Amino acid sequence: MPQAPFPLSPSLWAATAAAPPPTQPLAASAQADVLVVGGGYAGLSTALHLAERGVRVVLLEAREIGFGGSGRNGGQVIPGLKYDPDALISLFGAERGERLIRFAGSTADTVFNLIERHGMDVPHVRGGWIQGAHTAKALRLAHDRAAQWARLGADVQPLDRAQVARLIGTDRYQGGWVDRRAGAIQPLSYVRGLARAALSAGAVIHTGSPVTGLTRAGGKWTAATAGGPAVTADRVVMCTNAYGGDLLPGLKASIIDANTFQVATAPLPEAVRAGILPEGHVTSDTRNLLLYFRLDHQGRLLMGGRGPFREPKGQQDWAHLERVMLKLFPQVAGSPFEYRWCGRVAVTRDYLPHLHEPEPGLLVDIGCQGRGVGLQTSMGRAMAQYVATGDANALPVPLSPVVPFPLYGLRRLYVNAVVSWYRMTDGGV
Ligand SMILES: Cc1cc2nc3c(=O)[nH]c(=O)nc-3n(C[C@H](O)[C@H](O)[C@H](O)COP(=O)(O)OP(=O)(O)OC[C@H]3O[C@@H](n4cnc5c(N)ncnc54)[C@H](O)[C@@H]3O)c2cc1C
Repeated sequence: MPQAPFPLSPSLWAATAAAPPPTQPLAASAQADVLVVGGGYAGLSTALHLAERGVRVVLLEAREIGFGGSGRNGGQVIPGLKYDPDALISLFGAERGERLIRFAGSTADTVFNLIERHGMDVPHVRGGWIQGAHTAKALRLAHDRAAQWARLGADVQPLDRAQVARLIGTDRYQGGWVDRRAGAIQPLSYVRGLARAALSAGAVIHTGSPVTGLTRAGGKWTAATAGGPAVTADRVVMCTNAYGGDLLPGLKASIIDANTFQVATAPLPEAVRAGILPEGHVTSDTRNLLLYFRLDHQGRLLMGGRGPFREPKGQQDWAHLERVMLKLFPQVAGSPFEYRWCGRVAVTRDYLPHLHEPEPGLLVDIGCQGRGVGLQTSMGRAMAQYVATGDANALPVPLSPVVPFPLYGLRRLYVNAVVSWYRMTDGGV
């Protein structure tokens, strides 16, 4: 598992989140119907939805709730996948493709409904997402994307250059589209809210309890933990995404665990804030090395984007993002940068989320592609339904074998080459 040289404490989210529910390391061996490994959105949503069905669930988290991507992300809740609806029909056929589109189109609803239903203490706003187009070609594709979702009845709209300039507060984009199903959350508060809801529903959660081995005997799975005690269960659901180690042979090598970096300013003066994302949208753009930005609930401007593949060595690893933010929004120049943090996302070869069942009773969810707030929450609900009912139609994507990247050991070289190529082809800001 990647270590965190910049632990959660200096991130914006750790500084402003609701407190986590009290949890302890696993102190004595335990039995469950289902063991969930990983305390992010996917694992906690699985645990919550299983517990609500009366299933006995134990969740083991290696570090703390939200230690992985779920406590570090940009908090943009965006429906959809990397592929547009028409492409999903081409890839999966009409019946399965339409089911996947419905699933992908409802992922933001899932998050906002859960926040409401469980009365979670999570700052959130459902102001929509604008995708800014960085070239004329990207603008044509963005408008086509909007048209595809509009045909399906989604609340979306193409935007021209002047509309995007007004709604984002910078004239650097050629236009774009807005998806009003989307919104923003405080991501660490949300994952902690999911943990509280899962505990209230009857799930048992142990933090500081890394699973070190999974074995199957007599139809039961046993998870050994670093501390000594074990959990025995009929089924296991693995939700370790980009933060998993070598628990399952080949799994780590089936993704690239790319690092993405974020900076946040101090709360902006009212006059400056009023001109940036004035209607409460969140934004990302069409670059391959995409930039994503939003205001938080206290008026800070956050921006995320590429960073080194390795773990950061110091502030200089965020300097490029700070320069980009000042180019897009020169008006924030007087406000200091308050927070810098980063985290890993799991990218698969086909840019689709993957579900595997390498052995009976072992379900594995991996590959959020960096858009996992809604996706992984919804995936957890779908996996809970599958585990509880055995109905494979509950799963949005078909179960597939684990396929490692070729030449995985050279992935740093590969990622660095791809990043250099994209930096050239994306053009400057
Ligand atoms: C910087 C950043 C910005 C992002 N921005 C956005 C955004 O704005 N919008 C969006 O939709 N998505 C975004 N994402 C992606 C999103 O955060 C992830 O898709 C999502 O959080 C993944 O959730 P998860 O539950 O699958 O995995 P994670 O949250 O990564 O959870 C996996 C957990 O498994 C635990 N674990 C690993 N191994 C073991 C073990 N052996 N035993 C026990 N526990 C183990 C880890 O400690 C970790 O807590 C971003 C990600 C990052 C890193």
